[in-house]
Amino acid sequence: MAETAGPVITIDGPSGVGKSTISRRVAAHYGFTYLDTGAMYRAVAWYLLKHAIDIEDVGAVESVLDQITITLLPTEREDDDVGVLVNGNNISDQIRTPDISMVASTVSALPAVRKKLTTLQRQIGSRGCVVAEGRDTGTVVFPGATNKFYLDASPEARTARRAQQLRERGKPVDEEQLLEMTIVRDRQDSERLIAPLIKADDAVLIDTTELDVDQVFEAIRKLID
Ligand code: C5P
Repeated sequence: MAETAGPVITIDGPSGVGKSTISRRVAAHYGFTYLDTGAMYRAVAWYLLKHAIDIEDVGAVESVLDQITITLLPTEREDDDVGVLVNGNNISDQIRTPDISMVASTVSALPAVRKKLTTLQRQIGSRGCVVAEGRDTGTVVFPGATNKFYLDASPEARTARRAQQLRERGKPVDEEQLLEMTIVRDRQDSERLIAPLIKADDAVLIDTTELDVDQVFEAIRKLID
């Protein structure tokens, strides 16, 4: 793992735990770059769906990976999701759907996909002053990170938050189905052989079930300062 030029903060955990909101706030507070690694897996999933690539066909997926160029755009406002370009096309508003979440989770288990995206994430991180969020940023992407956090919460609490987010974006929500998808995604992400979702030994665990965003942010800020 290459040395980074400045501090790297990693925030990992399962979906809907509040990683994005917290990571963006921490990045804004310290003037760091926000690196949303999940957005990259979503971008790959979007490309595969768009081009009707059979995601069960590992050879077919691998054969198109070189054709996918991903660019993350800086967030203008702290509340905004990161913007994503795939081969120059802005797909930001198409990647935050339950379908893309499931495909991202499935293809993120493939070694070639992880290799491509881990390389890209390390390139961005090599400049330092980064807050990286995802599933393996503290364990695999930046094992030497300056500060590592692992956020957790019950599947029910996480599903309720995700449902709220989708509603705010005007998307239809079936909360029961969403809970089922959350549980499947947790299992896929935790049980895969490469870079599974797991707390790094040296990460600080914060259970966000009973905490609001301000409380989680304050806990993290105190530990970093
Ligand atoms: O964080 P987000 O929900 O956007 O991530 C979408 C999917 O991408 C996750 O369910 C996970 O399977 C995958 N992912 C990953 N490693 C990361 C970030 C995301 O495998 N570092």
